Amino acid sequence: MKKEKLICDFCGIEDTVQNPVIAGENATICQSCAKSAYEIIEKHKTESSDSNELTDVSNSTIQQNILTPKELKTILDEYVIGQEKAKKVLSVAVYNHYKRIFKQSDSEDITELTKSNVLLIGPTGSGKTLLAQTISKYLDVPLAIADATSLTEAGYVGDDVENVVTRLIQAADGDIKKAEQGIIFIDEIDKIARMSENRSITRDVSGEGVQQALLKIVEGSQVNVPPKGGRKHPGQDSLQLDTTNVLFICGGAFDGMKDIIGKREGGNILGFNQEKKTKVEQENIMEKIEADDLVKYGLIPELIGRLHMTAILEEIDEDAMIHILKEPKNSLVKQYTKLFKMDDVDLEFDDKSLIAIAKAAIDRKTGARGLRSILEDIMLDVMYELPEYKGKKVTITEDVVNKIKLPKVV
Ligand code: ADP
Repeated sequence: MKKEKLICDFCGIEDTVQNPVIAGENATICQSCAKSAYEIIEKHKTESSDSNELTDVSNSTIQQNILTPKELKTILDEYVIGQEKAKKVLSVAVYNHYKRIFKQSDSEDITELTKSNVLLIGPTGSGKTLLAQTISKYLDVPLAIADATSLTEAGYVGDDVENVVTRLIQAADGDIKKAEQGIIFIDEIDKIARMSENRSITRDVSGEGVQQALLKIVEGSQVNVPPKGGRKHPGQDSLQLDTTNVLFICGGAFDGMKDIIGKREGGNILGFNQEKKTKVEQENIMEKIEADDLVKYGLIPELIGRLHMTAILEEIDEDAMIHILKEPKNSLVKQYTKLFKMDDVDLEFDDKSLIAIAKAAIDRKTGARGLRSILEDIMLDVMYELPEYKGKKVTITEDVVNKIKLPKVV
């Protein structure tokens, strides 16, 4: 009896020598279909492992980098005293910024999230730089700090705006990708205001030139920078960095801004009754700042348009000064106490001494920045003798701060 030929259950082809059909318990498959099935399974495997990898990478980046605004503010609270509004604004801005970088991968959604650069307005020594430093440290992103007054347009003598980008690359240990997600803090942005008819500062037009140069990198552009900074030379290799995802934080004191806001508000805030206004009312004037006021001050509208979030920092008063001395995680009192402990010496600042130090700092008009040098001056002699005070306790009193007495050592 002639044996019946096997037929492939998938394609219906008959068993041949060139394309044999194999039979399982309940089904048959020819060599050609088996091969196709194998290829389909392999392709599917690689596709799904690719997509798994992608999800893993993006998730881990997000988890590593995006802290919620509340978490960010809690970190800032540990280092920066007061300045509640500024801490909130910065936390939200930073959260949105990194969300924009790491989560903007949904190809179906065409809504583009614009960068949320920040403008911090507050007197010198009120914590603007400290805010930027603390944020960058805890996000583990590189930070470059530049003083706007030292910047010039490309080609002028001084620091090219692009050198700030070089600094950012250096802060990222040469890792361009990391630098492209970093933070650039430009201090004293108010000092590059162009001359305005409302203010009597004499400044050449270069202020506007520097603002234009800054605008280019703030907006996001490909910047070619010499690897070691300095001037660009023809033929020299250059590094290229895209600033699209770099977060810019600008800071400035904007002296005289209250007058500009006051005038715009119709002279009701300042003017005749100025002396009658309480300190709180005067402080609150700054909260009313609008983009127009910044234009009047001499910032170019295009640059203002790129600094979406503005936060006002308050002047550090005596109370805040005392908190700053004692409370932040690395406060000066904590640092000195630790230094003394290392020599087995106890250190105490009595309450009046802290008030005296705070008053001295306020007299210097450099905000909390003055605290360190005041303390260094007070502590110099004690530090000199410190190794000999082993096992003892040093007390700093008001008289010690005012240089009337030497510290008590018992
Ligand atoms: P700004 O940039 O506003 O001129 P900084 O942030 O550089 O001032 O402040 C100088 C120093 O003063 C900081 O390093 C910090 O030690 C202290 N400081 C200023 N403001 C605060 C604050 N609000 N909380 C804690 N420390 C502060």
